[in-house]
Amino acid sequence: MMIIMHPGAPREQIQGVIAEIENQKLSSHIIEGVEQTIIGAVGDGHYVAKEIFEALPGVLSVQRISQPYKLASRQFHEQDSIFQLDGFSIGSLEIPIIAGPCSVESRAQILEIAQAVKEAGANALRGGVYKPRTSPYAFQGLGEEGLEYMAEAREKTGLPLVVEVMAVSQIPMMEKYVDVFQLGARNMQNFNLLRAIGETRTPVLFKRGMSATIEEMLMASEYIISGGNTRVMLCERGIRTFETATRNTTDINAIPVLKKLTHLPVIIDPSHSTGDSAFVSAVARAGVAAGADGIIVEVHHDPAHAISDGKQSLTPEAFAKMVKQVRAVAEAVDRRLVAQHEKI
Ligand code: PEP
Ligand code: MN
Repeated sequence: MMIIMHPGAPREQIQGVIAEIENQKLSSHIIEGVEQTIIGAVGDGHYVAKEIFEALPGVLSVQRISQPYKLASRQFHEQDSIFQLDGFSIGSLEIPIIAGPCSVESRAQILEIAQAVKEAGANALRGGVYKPRTSPYAFQGLGEEGLEYMAEAREKTGLPLVVEVMAVSQIPMMEKYVDVFQLGARNMQNFNLLRAIGETRTPVLFKRGMSATIEEMLMASEYIISGGNTRVMLCERGIRTFETATRNTTDINAIPVLKKLTHLPVIIDPSHSTGDSAFVSAVARAGVAAGADGIIVEVHHDPAHAISDGKQSLTPEAFAKMVKQVRAVAEAVDRRLVAQHEKI
């Protein structure tokens, strides 16, 4: 339910509404506009009559949110959410690019790639240290040692870090190093993990499960947002279809559909969407043309010898070319890439 207060309603009236929300065993989420405050009452509110809130002093109107997801919906929050990250914003007109290897493999590897992607125009560095591999015998990641190398890369380049978290137990240690948690496709419905991430205040890059519908994705993101961690960016990374020519099928429709349904920023991952470096730049361009607010892309200085996802990794040169092309597409749709001088 959304409780819309009269413009200028005093604090005591807002407090009164919050007290009633708690009394009904719901949780309150406040959006303070310039003139008007809207209070979301979320939880299992089926049995709670709207009239209870309508009768409270200062309440202008009460609306039920028709979507099954609430806090993520545009109905609850009409304006695009814009999150300030280190050196750039996401969800505004500017489009940041997150780039780096699939996995952190060694100190030398991550430092070299970090420098290369920065020079080519990246705004944040990606690199996995806990890898969700299909085979338990495949490289599982360097763990905290990898995070130390990532931290050194951030120090040298100024790029904030985006790193996948795979388990609740990793959160306290990882929080000390990372700027953005990546929630991987395979964990999109790991509800315990989602709730635990919702307890943190670290922004989240939330990937669509490989067989998840858009509605399931939004419902799952709600687990994080309802915990109070509102800085969630949704990522289309391709879904499983009958098509086998590419690793996954980019659901390009998901971008404008998500932009309609939710206020959260939407990011395109052309690497896992295609699984092939030959198609990455085309899908990055398509994503931006379709309205994506950011790009996350895999880059490796030596893709042939990458420990994971080499086939879909761009060389730094190919990445630089992609950035140039994406910049032109961004401008064609009245957006722009994050300007270099805005970075640290
Ligand atoms: C990754 O980003 O390397 C990754 C494992 O992605 P996804 O969860 O989308 O498969
Ligand atoms: Mn990968």
